[in-house]
Order: sequence, then structure tokens, then C-alpha cells
Amino acid sequence: MDRERRIAIVGAGAGGLAAAWHLQELGYRYVTVMERGPDVGGLCDAISIDGKPYELGAALLSWEYRHVFGFLRRYEMETTTVAPFYLLDRAGGKVLPLTFLMDGRDKLELAAAVARYFVELARYADEVGGPGFRNLEATDLCQPFGDWLDANGMSALKDQLVIPVTCYGYGRLSEIPAAYALKYLNLGNFTTSLYISGVEALGQNPDWPRKIVQGMHGLMANIAGDLTDLRTDCTIERIDRDLPGPHPIRIRSRTGAQALRDEEFDVLIVACKQDPQTLAGLPMALDPDETALFAPVTSGNFFTMVCDAEGIGYGLYCNIVEGNALSLPSSGVPIFMGRLWEGSPVLNVYAEADAGVTEEAVLPQMLAALQRMNITVGRVHTVRRWRYFPHAPSQALADGFYRKYEAAQGRHATYYAGSVACFECVEDSIEYAVDLVQRLF
Ligand SMILES: Cc1cc2nc3c(=O)[nH]c(=O)nc-3n(C[C@H](O)[C@H](O)[C@H](O)COP(=O)(O)OP(=O)(O)OC[C@H]3O[C@@H](n4cnc5c(N)ncnc54)[C@H](O)[C@@H]3O)c2cc1C
Repeated sequence: MDRERRIAIVGAGAGGLAAAWHLQELGYRYVTVMERGPDVGGLCDAISIDGKPYELGAALLSWEYRHVFGFLRRYEMETTTVAPFYLLDRAGGKVLPLTFLMDGRDKLELAAAVARYFVELARYADEVGGPGFRNLEATDLCQPFGDWLDANGMSALKDQLVIPVTCYGYGRLSEIPAAYALKYLNLGNFTTSLYISGVEALGQNPDWPRKIVQGMHGLMANIAGDLTDLRTDCTIERIDRDLPGPHPIRIRSRTGAQALRDEEFDVLIVACKQDPQTLAGLPMALDPDETALFAPVTSGNFFTMVCDAEGIGYGLYCNIVEGNALSLPSSGVPIFMGRLWEGSPVLNVYAEADAGVTEEAVLPQMLAALQRMNITVGRVHTVRRWRYFPHAPSQALADGFYRKYEAAQGRHATYYAGSVACFECVEDSIEYAVDLVQRLF
């Protein structure tokens, strides 16, 4: 493509920032990123308390985060190990070692399931490996992950995989389509998960997962610092496409208190989430195929609370035990929490809630649950609600969601990037954006 072309990118999350950065690297001179929020990073947000970053969204890295580590080297940013993982009994707050998950388990059966999982990963490398899901056609990967594990002789893995899937907010194993779970639980994340799930005999590496010393948001801010035309607090009032003349896209926008301006572009990259709610906030007429494509995209209602708390030590706690038995929490009850920095009074607490539950409604539920765990909460620094893990449900996947998604790329001079294209993880979002740029620009 002609390097003089003007490119507009909507959304300065990991995907939008990475797309802009790589376009600039390829020599594109006119790349404009428009972010509606006051800051960059999207789900890679954090607050700073006493000089330390407390992540509201993304925090953890596995060794397969090739693009993220590339950026980290470029900006000379360091990573460090994270706090040790534990289980926490929601009835009373007893801390249990992860090996609790192994108690009474048939270790041979588990080892066989792990081996089988490696084989399946290799078998489906074309469908779930690499950027996005360009080769995913209707296969058994469209069914829920739990069913897929059962059908393929890997039921023994289910308890282990609740931590990386459900505790991290990606829903129950009975809900998340297997294709997403396999993409996420690639070699790096799967082996990391085995370690944190207490499978100590099976190839673990205690150095993983890791976190960025300056925080994931610090990385996003560094990438943003290299961009030549990045606008935060940017309200897009109108996007017209298919205009006659040399520049098919016109965007009317206002940045902060500046005057409205109309600008023409050659290409548009939509790097905000393509779920119906987010797209409703983007004043752009979708064609009937785009409307039908994005209509089924669904997201979770996930919350991060950051508070000062006493009664719990340095660690990351998976709240999947109640009364000494494995059990998942109900809506609004914390599923995961962590003291991210040793010696700090600050606790990050995460909960999934039913659709429609707001920050105001979830806060008392989270506080009551913490009280039952004998954790005393002081100051609440913030509660953030996330539209999390936007994805195509099983039926839409089976109906060729990703074939249609890829077919939509380039129509109306519009391209789509971000987590819907791949999976709700920083590396996936960056990998897809970089591939899109290299493949199509
Ligand atoms: C609690 C939590 C924990 C997580 N933990 C991890 C982790 O440990 N490791 C990991 O890899 N990932 C993690 N993730 C996931 C990771 O943060 C996301 O997958 C990734 O950051 C998504 O990037 P994105 O660019 O695709 O989308 P987003 O981050 O959603 O970025 C989209 C951007 O578009 C903007 N936007 C939306 N609408 C408009 C509009 N109309 N005009 C202009 N801009 C608009 C938004 O404000 C946003 O900045 C976590 C997420 C959460 C919430």
C-alpha cells in the first residue's frame, strides 16, 4: 500500500496501539489514533499507589508473549516474578496450598490427560495457533471447553483449568467455546497453568507467570509515546465510509475542548471491541453483513476492586473452595484476589457478576464476601467494571464467525482488530494487530 495513505485507528488499547506502532515502523506517515478515554491502554489500565502500579486489568505474562517481550526489550523494561498462588476457602478464609487440587487425584490419569492435551494442541495448531482464527471452520472446537475435554478423555484436567479460565474471568468451562480455551491455553499458558494449579510434577517453571515492574499500563504508555498523532479524550461524532473521491473515509471528531473537525482518511481500523454495545457508541453505519456478524458477540461483566485490606498475606488467591470442597462463587462474590506487591496494604479483588450488575451494586457484595473470609477492608481506592472477553458463542462459531470476520476485512476500506479478532489477552491482541498490518498493508 502507498505509505502516504492516511490511516485512522479507533481505540488505543493494546491492539490499536500495536497496529499504529507497526504502521509507523513500515513507513506510514499519517497514522491517527483516536481514543475516547482520557488515557491509553484500554483494559491495560492501572492506578498508582505509593509509586507502585496496581493493575485494574492485564498484569500477567507467560513465556509465549513474544510481541510483548519484544516491546519490553525495546523500552528496556523489566519483568519480575509474581506473588505465590494459593487457594482460599470462602467460608472463613482459610488459605490452602495449590496441592489441595491434587489431593486424592489419580496422578496417572492426570498425566495422561496432560499428554493428550499436548497432542491436541499440536493437532489444532492451524486452527488455534497463530494470529486470530483464520483457519477455524466448524469443528468440534465450537462446543464448550468442558464438553470438549470430556469428549476427548481429558476430564481429569477440568479442576486444574478452572484457575486460568474461570478465576481469570473467562467464564465457566461449560460456557467458553473450546476454540478460545485452546488458543488461550497454548503451550506457554498451559504449562504455566499446570504449575499454578498444583501439578508440581509436570514440567512446571516457578519463574512464570511474570509481571512488568512498571506495570502493563507502563508498557502501553511507552508504545503510545512513540506515536506521532495520538488523541485521547477524542469523541468521534460521525464516521462516513464509501465516499466518492480519493479518500473514502470521513471522520468528524472533537479532541478535549477543541473544535469539531472533519478529516478524510483512506483506511479505517476499528480496534475497539466489536460487541453490539461498544459498536452502538461508534457513530458508523454498519452494512447488513457487519451488523449480522457482530450481533451475537457477547461479553462478561467483570469487576476489579482495589482496596486497603488486613487479614491476608502476600499472595494471589483463587477463591474456588468453600467448606473444604471445590465450588465456584456466585455473582458478585470475589473469584480471585491478590496482594500484588510484598509489604503493601493494597489488595486487588476480582469478581464476575450477572449481566446488568453495576459497580455500586457489586461493591457491597464484594465487601460482604471478604468479611466472611475474615478480611477487613479499609479504604476502597476504586472499583472498575469491564466488558470482558467479547467473543462469539458456540453457535456463531459453528456458523463460520471467523470466516465472515476475515471476509469483512478491507470492505468499505475498514479493518477490524482487537480482542474479538483473537482472544482477550494482551499478546493475542497485539499479535493479531501486527499480523493484520503485515498481511494487508
Ligand atoms: C481484570 C483483567 C485482567 C486481565 N489480565 C490479563 C493478563 O493477566 N494477561 C493478559 O495478557 N491479558 C489480561 N487481560 C486482558 C487484556 O487486558 C485485554 O485482552 C487487552 O488489553 C485487550 O486489548 P484491545 O486493544 O483488544 O482492547 P481494549 O483494551 O478494549 O481497547 C479498546 C480501546 O478502544 C476504546 N474505545 C472504545 N470505543 C471507542 C470509541 N467509540 N471511540 C474511541 N475509542 C473507543 C476503549 O476506550 C479502549 O481504550 C485482563 C483484562 C482484565 C479486564
